[in-house]
Amino acid sequence: MALLDDLDRGLVDLIFPRDCVVTQRPMEAGPRRHLSEAGALELARIADPRCLRCGHPFDGTLEDDRTCPHCLGLHPAFGRAVCPFRARGPVREIIHLIKYGGRPWLVDDLAEVALTDTLFRRHLMGAVLVPVPLHAGRQRERGYNQAERVAAWLAPRLPGCTFAPLLVKPDATISQTRLDRQERRANVRRAFRLAPGRAIDPERRYVILDDVLTTGATLHACAATLRAAGAHHVDAAALAHG
Ligand SMILES: [Zn+2]
Repeated sequence: MALLDDLDRGLVDLIFPRDCVVTQRPMEAGPRRHLSEAGALELARIADPRCLRCGHPFDGTLEDDRTCPHCLGLHPAFGRAVCPFRARGPVREIIHLIKYGGRPWLVDDLAEVALTDTLFRRHLMGAVLVPVPLHAGRQRERGYNQAERVAAWLAPRLPGCTFAPLLVKPDATISQTRLDRQERRANVRRAFRLAPGRAIDPERRYVILDDVLTTGATLHACAATLRAAGAHHVDAAALAHG
């Protein structure tokens, strides 16, 4: 279906007029294909101030170094993570459709709105965008890696950005969904490797990209892998914060 959507959108649109994924009303002309202006306004956005570590919005409790309670004890291998949305309401539903509903193209519309978040945009500029990899078996099952689509969509739209799928996940791990923070961390601790034949340029800044940041365990494990391979500047980003 992804192939059909990408191949001949004009023809498909003619046969099946598109509705906004949020409002369910017919799409108007505009920069996005499945997310209307009205729908975009319903997305839960993260505004400043946000945690300097994980990007979570501050909700009252502030630690001295401006990291939030969410981050305490995390000590991530990435410097800073920025997320434009909260994984709530329509954002959560869209991400669910992307991951489990076979609609990877919704990434493009969510990422398009994400770029209107100035901090998110600046955070990515000039960086090497590295998607969180899926295990090959999982990717075959799903037909795509949504994190890869996020990074591949964003890179050509930002000055100085390069899309680089530098990491692989050689073994399957169990789903993080039902695990607590410590279990998540242990589950992915040694899950990632530098892809064969790939090298790190210590002069570049790397941003690991995922669709959702929940505890930060996956982004941390990916960042630790890049650092072990020689990267000095590693940050992270996700479309939504859980
Ligand atoms: Zn935080």
